[in-house]
Amino acid sequence: MRGRCPQTILTDIDSGLREAIARELPNTKHVVCIWHILSKLSSWFSLPLGSQYADFKADFNMLCHLESVEDFEHQWNLLVARFGLVSDKHIALLFSYRASWAVSYIRSYFVARMLTAEFSQSLDSFLKRILSAQTCLQVFFEQVGIATNLQSQTREEVHYMHIKTCMPIEEHARSILTPYAFNVLQHEIMLSMQYATTEMANGSYLVRHYRKMDGEFLVIWIPDNEQIHCSCKEFEHSGTLCRHSLRVLAVKNYFELPERYFLHRWRLESSLVPMGVENAQISSEECAQAFHSVAATLLTESLISKERFDYVHRELAGLLEHVRNMPVVDEFALNIAPNNVSES
Ligand SMILES: [Zn+2]
Repeated sequence: MRGRCPQTILTDIDSGLREAIARELPNTKHVVCIWHILSKLSSWFSLPLGSQYADFKADFNMLCHLESVEDFEHQWNLLVARFGLVSDKHIALLFSYRASWAVSYIRSYFVARMLTAEFSQSLDSFLKRILSAQTCLQVFFEQVGIATNLQSQTREEVHYMHIKTCMPIEEHARSILTPYAFNVLQHEIMLSMQYATTEMANGSYLVRHYRKMDGEFLVIWIPDNEQIHCSCKEFEHSGTLCRHSLRVLAVKNYFELPERYFLHRWRLESSLVPMGVENAQISSEECAQAFHSVAATLLTESLISKERFDYVHRELAGLLEHVRNMPVVDEFALNIAPNNVSES
């Protein structure tokens, strides 16, 4: 770490680790991976709760994502009372670790999107592919080495970065960010169009979804040094500007994001990905042409009989459903994401 401590460290629940981190890295935020906690819930609570376990799990999931500490502690007490868990040792353990896993406590700490479902699924599927009961440690390290050697990625594995809006902010970001980071920001840019802004007397903005009357976010814009802060803390947590901030920047006539919002770790220039977005774009166009060609042939062939048409329609509906359910982030994108959270 070259004399510097990480901002954040992610671990499983482990009292030895907690003590060691508190002693050796007192300025580092200790975050417990929520996926580890969720994987333990069944073995801890399904037996004592019996048929109530499903309700408990649903309530627990809701608690994990509450935004304010006050709400969390209030709802936690209700949960414990409702399910009669006052003297349960695992409830006591989870509560003692609450500042390390509940979103309300950790949302202003940088975790580089490593707690997202996409990251967890991608990691899971990667490990399942390379690990079996017979895998020895040497083979494991060899496989990880092969997977992280981005220079050996084949042309087919290049992650295309399609533009989805006509906003110049998106086009500009594509030229700077890694495919992984661009996909995440692009999603926020698209959703930002669904938000309404109300300017306050002090120059800050209230931002809310056009269909929701509650759940406003406060966005503070400081023009002198081009800083923007949102009460959702998404940028502090993931390093990607949130849809609320992006909405306000659009109102402020920004056509490119300020430099400070392209973190070093998410830039193409600082990643191991071979540069050459232009080549990727050419390939992207070739790819689209190939798709159109197959689709046109499929249409011609399927219109020959009703039986053919019904078959193609049914299969395509299934294919579309399957594709929509696939993880948004694939292993290639995961490989591009830096594997530590020690710097921003
Ligand atoms: Zn926000």
